[in-house]
Amino acid sequence: MYSPRAVRLTPVQVRARIVRLDLAETFVISREASDHAEVVHVALSHEGVVGYGEAAPVERYGESAASALRFLEEHGSLLGDDPFALEEIGSRLAEIPGEHAAKAALDAALHDLQGKLLGVPVWKLLGLPRAGPPTSWTIWLGDPDDMARRAERSAPRFRRLKLKLGGGDGLDVERVRAVRGVTDRPLQVDVNEWWSLEEALAALPQLAALGVEYCEQPLRAGDEGGRVLKERSPIPIYVDEDCHVLADMARCAEIAHGVNLKLAKSGGIREAIRMAHAARALGLGVMVGCMLESGLGIAAGCCVAPLCDHADLDGNLLLADDPCPGVALVDGVQVPAASPGLGVSVPHV
Ligand SMILES: [Mg+2]
Repeated sequence: MYSPRAVRLTPVQVRARIVRLDLAETFVISREASDHAEVVHVALSHEGVVGYGEAAPVERYGESAASALRFLEEHGSLLGDDPFALEEIGSRLAEIPGEHAAKAALDAALHDLQGKLLGVPVWKLLGLPRAGPPTSWTIWLGDPDDMARRAERSAPRFRRLKLKLGGGDGLDVERVRAVRGVTDRPLQVDVNEWWSLEEALAALPQLAALGVEYCEQPLRAGDEGGRVLKERSPIPIYVDEDCHVLADMARCAEIAHGVNLKLAKSGGIREAIRMAHAARALGLGVMVGCMLESGLGIAAGCCVAPLCDHADLDGNLLLADDPCPGVALVDGVQVPAASPGLGVSVPHV
């Protein structure tokens, strides 16, 4: 039986390594194309039990797998000797700027460790149900016909489709029209910061007419036009690149109707839950998103999903082969395992 008294005697041990994830197909968005992603897997050992977490570093914010690995190797000792002391550990980690993906890996691994020490799944530890909104499936950026073909293929498996826009070729509305022509599934779009205010004001009424549910990050993060767009957009605006941590929420409420929470930006489950509650207090919609991640990263994201209106947790499903099985796609919903911790099997770290 787990004894909290013993916890104070043994420091939490940290191991980490870079893992390459190969994608089933090349993934294209407005600013980049990739056929693989590098993440970092971290293993925390304590009292003979091992907890795992994943860092999915975001290049857009100056992070890489190498910088995340360096952070984990240099600052692992900040975890101390009590894996349940999340508030204190979080305060120590917050003193070092940046590297939110690495911090998220530690936070996920601590939750996994806690669950395993107590014999309960993380969602139960958090007092949340083993459920969430259906995940969207990402239709990455391509020609309108190509996007329509891919949408048609994936629509039977997924209950929501998220279209990547921002082609910079004047065809973004055509992309949505082409997809709308082949499926009745709810559609969401993500522009990844690629429109000007003028382009957004011209496109959004047409997207509204095509039944698009909401538009994610149409403008560049920090764009002064955000307030005007929130006032004039006929469909909800969700921000992603504008929304990182709890301290961003008040500004997000001025420029958007909703926020996209990602553990790789927030620094983990704990901060994302704070953000979800702050969003509700500010009258905002909430979604949980992901990066290109294995099932280990997605399992942590699933724990926040019950607090959200929308989920975009398809990262592991875009891989050629998920090295960390555990999460199951059930009727379009990414459902975490019922076993203790995050319930994910992780190859040797
Ligand atoms: Mg996004």
